[in-house]
Amino acid sequence: MKYTKQDVLRLVQEEDVEFIRLQFTDMFGTFKNVAVTSSQLAKALDNQCRFDGSSIEGFVRIEESDMYLHPDLDTFAIFPWRPQQGKVARLICDVFRPDGKPFEGDPRYILKKAVKEADDMGYTFDVGPECEFFLYHTDDTGQPTTVTHEKAGYFDLGPVDLGENARRDMVLTLEDMGFEIEASYHEAAPAQHEIDFRYDEALVTADNIMTFKLAVKTIAKRHGLHASFMPKPKEGVNGSGMHTNMSLSREGRNIFADPSDSLGLSREAYYFIGGLMKHIKGMAAITNPLVNSYKRLVPGFEAPASIAWSATNRSPLIRIPSRQGESARVELRCPDPSANPYLVLAVCLAAGLDGIRNQIMPPESVDKNIFEMTSEEKEAAGIESLPSSLWEAIQELEKDEFIKNVLGEHLCGHYIRAKKEEWAQYSRHVSAWELEQYLYRI
Ligand code: GLU
Ligand code: MG
Ligand code: MG
Repeated sequence: MKYTKQDVLRLVQEEDVEFIRLQFTDMFGTFKNVAVTSSQLAKALDNQCRFDGSSIEGFVRIEESDMYLHPDLDTFAIFPWRPQQGKVARLICDVFRPDGKPFEGDPRYILKKAVKEADDMGYTFDVGPECEFFLYHTDDTGQPTTVTHEKAGYFDLGPVDLGENARRDMVLTLEDMGFEIEASYHEAAPAQHEIDFRYDEALVTADNIMTFKLAVKTIAKRHGLHASFMPKPKEGVNGSGMHTNMSLSREGRNIFADPSDSLGLSREAYYFIGGLMKHIKGMAAITNPLVNSYKRLVPGFEAPASIAWSATNRSPLIRIPSRQGESARVELRCPDPSANPYLVLAVCLAAGLDGIRNQIMPPESVDKNIFEMTSEEKEAAGIESLPSSLWEAIQELEKDEFIKNVLGEHLCGHYIRAKKEEWAQYSRHVSAWELEQYLYRI
């Protein structure tokens, strides 16, 4: 525990905080909040802040709409981009039902449940994400566009990198909020950027990803830019991923490390990979939740399309980064930053633990460039593909009882229904591509 109630009340006084935002996340990974003034803080800290759950997508029906926010005191942070007098702070909250029970459809609760299972096995789940995003111009009315005048590529610098100033401001802001930023740079596509922060326990990392996206969007706006975490805003160039680096520790020691193994990995690490590979199809609707997500998962753009792992190359789903020992870890490369981070980490952890419990050994690693293999070669090597559309991913989720159980009936039912509707809407849409391809010749 970092803060007590008294600490939070004192900090609010000392720092001249006027507004406190009570934040939580809906099932699609959208941050929501209700603001209270400092005069109401004591009440909020006593878990008395009520809201209408029926207005939040995937929460509850009108007849049972009262929900309560229970602030997690350790998440107290002041927004550096708000005024210095009458500051604005936030607390991330858990969602509870009026009877005092945690709301089973709250993504943060679903992650906590998965973390509890790891804890019961003696493990701590550590996660470090790599969030990529685009910085685009806005139009005259302030609406986002996909316009950029930038032509910079991987690791380029100014003046070619037009996002340099905005990115520096983002890094400083995040550091002000307690993030430890390990690297920030221009990514491969024009106007694409990456900022990496230090790994932490899963719940802290999921909270951090939510805060990260909010801060990046806010600072981009200050620079007259729009930050987008859309997975594939442009055809023909890389999309944005959220590579997820994972390890388990026990009593402070990374149990994925084994110096006697040729790749420096322990049996648990291999089983964890085995579990991820077993469930990845069923997890895809969570790690890659949008129609657009599947336009990123195509060969040739450093994003995975096949279910394989490797220690050397970047085309497969799972990579073992080279630095090993205490930092031994597994990098899952399919998640994209549009996903709900609480749900992503919950399904990753549960799948990995399933691998450990059932000693699921992954198949041989694939160390050649999968993008260059033909489908016959892949079939002969037993390499399967990730779902190629949101529709396929939903069907795979419906088949994976284990992943459905991790998500729980409440969230899973609402989620699948909403995603089916998203797919139906998309299927009805006549796109520019179709007109271009068919109108003149049919
Ligand atoms: N942007 C790539 C993706 O879609 C990843 C590039 C990298 O290796 O960082 O996952
Ligand atoms: Mg990257
Ligand atoms: Mg990476």
